[in-house]
Amino acid sequence: MTEKLNPFEIAQRQLDEAAQVLKLEPGIHALLREPLRELHVTLPVKMDDGSVKVFKGFRVQYNDARGPTKGGIRFHPAETIDTVRALAAWMTWKTAVVDIPLGGGKGGIICNPKEMSPAELERLSRAYIRQVGRILGEEVDVPAPDVYTNPQIMAWMMDEYSFIRGYNVPGVITGKPIPLGGSAGRSDATARGGMFCTREAGKVLDIELKGATAAIQGYGNAGQFAHLLGEELLGLKVLAVSDSRGGIFNPDGLEAKAVVEHKNNTGAVKGFSGATEITNEELLELDVTVLIPAALENQIGDWNAGNIKAKIVAELANGPTTPEADQILYKNGVYVIPDFLCNAGGVTVSYFEQVQNAYDYYWDEKTVHERLDQKMTAAFHAVHEMAQKHKVHNRLAAYLVAVNRVAEVVRLRGWV
Ligand code: GLU
Repeated sequence: MTEKLNPFEIAQRQLDEAAQVLKLEPGIHALLREPLRELHVTLPVKMDDGSVKVFKGFRVQYNDARGPTKGGIRFHPAETIDTVRALAAWMTWKTAVVDIPLGGGKGGIICNPKEMSPAELERLSRAYIRQVGRILGEEVDVPAPDVYTNPQIMAWMMDEYSFIRGYNVPGVITGKPIPLGGSAGRSDATARGGMFCTREAGKVLDIELKGATAAIQGYGNAGQFAHLLGEELLGLKVLAVSDSRGGIFNPDGLEAKAVVEHKNNTGAVKGFSGATEITNEELLELDVTVLIPAALENQIGDWNAGNIKAKIVAELANGPTTPEADQILYKNGVYVIPDFLCNAGGVTVSYFEQVQNAYDYYWDEKTVHERLDQKMTAAFHAVHEMAQKHKVHNRLAAYLVAVNRVAEVVRLRGWV
């Protein structure tokens, strides 16, 4: 069922719904339904065995009305241009909902990084920048990590870009290693921002989160840090976690540090001692207080939304819930913290990283955490109040806040 869902069509439908509530001018609506620019590239890469493999890559600059386009680069075997377009659209709403002066973009390469050596990944990353670098720049379009990309890949990309320009340009990319101009607090920022939102949701719903149960689908950067920080900041008891190879469950709770260590040593959460196995599908339907989808798109749809028992769904993944599921969850009283609000902590600290690069003056971790908290808390309450005011679900409310902000600058610029 998930193959048939086109993320870009979903993103457009979500916007259409918001445009209707906002009574958006048809010209602005039509403009915001489409990416402004996109580049498709073909990348020949020398493999370790001496052969040459040709990869396809994309960069979509969805909308830059509020500032330079911003958004990660994904390495994934199932990447499609429509997925990148959807993710670029969601970046536009994400930067607007947290009110940072940036637009939305996204990049992707169709590849399977799990089957590639570090040297092959480096050559692929540099090849991508040699092609896409011509449309990047600290005041134009600034990539970052996303699914299966990491600080090392950002370092290679920043280095390649700097060679092309002829001088050091740390601000062209964020999520860099700290010695190379990265920001303190960037690595766990997506999860930390999501935990700040979950904390605020607990307050408005009057739910005690200390000792409350949780389940996390996906155990990459966002999922692992959600486990660690859910425990540390909120006192959550995480009963189940999963990754692409399957999940683990313990009714007494899974200790974050131990599971993260197991995942780092073995490459999977499966096989962790003192837990039984659980499928990704079963995990989503567990009777827990907080459900955290932190994997890929289209995980909660009309086929399982009615079985979700969590009170709060904190979406750290991009696009995990379909529009049909949104209606079902809303009707059932499940409080969804929508993706482009809940996972905006990553791009918020990316923005802090850009500011620090521009000033060449670096903040300590405490400052980053405090400023992130301010941004996330303000965004959460703007969305929550919008939902109350219009009596709509939180995703639509987040769209109302974000689209209003983008539309305002489009009008001011006189684009339509
Ligand atoms: N890839 C992350 C996201 O989807 C971060 C983007 C960024 O930092 O630019 O929000």
